[in-house]
Amino acid sequence: MISTNGLIDFHCHLDLYPDHAAAVRQAEAAGVFTLAVTTTPKAWARNHELTRDTRHVRAALGLHPQLVSSRADEIALWETLLPQTRYVGEVGLDAGPRFYKSLDLQKDIFARVLRACTKAGGKIITVHSVRAAKAVLDHVEEHLQQRTNRVVLHWFTGSKSEAARALDMGCYFSINGTMLHSEKASALVRTLPVERMLTETDGPFTEIAGRPSRPVDVAGTVQSLAELLGLPPTTLASAMRDNLRRVRHETDLREGN
Ligand code: MN
Repeated sequence: MISTNGLIDFHCHLDLYPDHAAAVRQAEAAGVFTLAVTTTPKAWARNHELTRDTRHVRAALGLHPQLVSSRADEIALWETLLPQTRYVGEVGLDAGPRFYKSLDLQKDIFARVLRACTKAGGKIITVHSVRAAKAVLDHVEEHLQQRTNRVVLHWFTGSKSEAARALDMGCYFSINGTMLHSEKASALVRTLPVERMLTETDGPFTEIAGRPSRPVDVAGTVQSLAELLGLPPTTLASAMRDNLRRVRHETDLREGN
């Protein structure tokens, strides 16, 4: 197994593990760049506090589409906190059977999120798109200025033509180990250029060996993804680092963008 040092987990819910602080410390000690996504802006303060002084862990400001039906009014708080971070998520749309009823409200909230990012600029946004790839891309196209903002489609399950459209729009894709166990998802991943990929765990919502996966488990994902693409794991790991550097550069407001 390759070293975890310098690997990337671009979508992990560190605040949903039994010991949040320990989960942050473990990612930090392992040297895994971890994007700690949140599901409600009320979680921002604690996530920010625990990651403010870490080298490798960053917090993202989220309002999860699956929570919008009960927490839509928190969008005002979300907007107030946005200047504190360059990372946004988890946000997006979920048109699965359990959340379909709130889809119109989800669309209103997601549009507000994207318009706020447009106004601010410099944001990297990790986006959920379950059964809603087309609607997500339509929203991004309509509401997000992509000159200094970038979308990372997390656990993308749309079609190949939707993925091609997302690539044309400049989107990145974060890929987890569970996707690589699916033949359909693996076939889609093979159509993506390596330059647009990042790795993620989406822990604790994915499992490895019967327990929730953690940021250090991206080592296995790098291994499997490298195998799928026919690359040495260390080459793929360094490509992921290049991609993280590039997505930051593309959204760097100080670069004269
Ligand atoms: Mn998630």
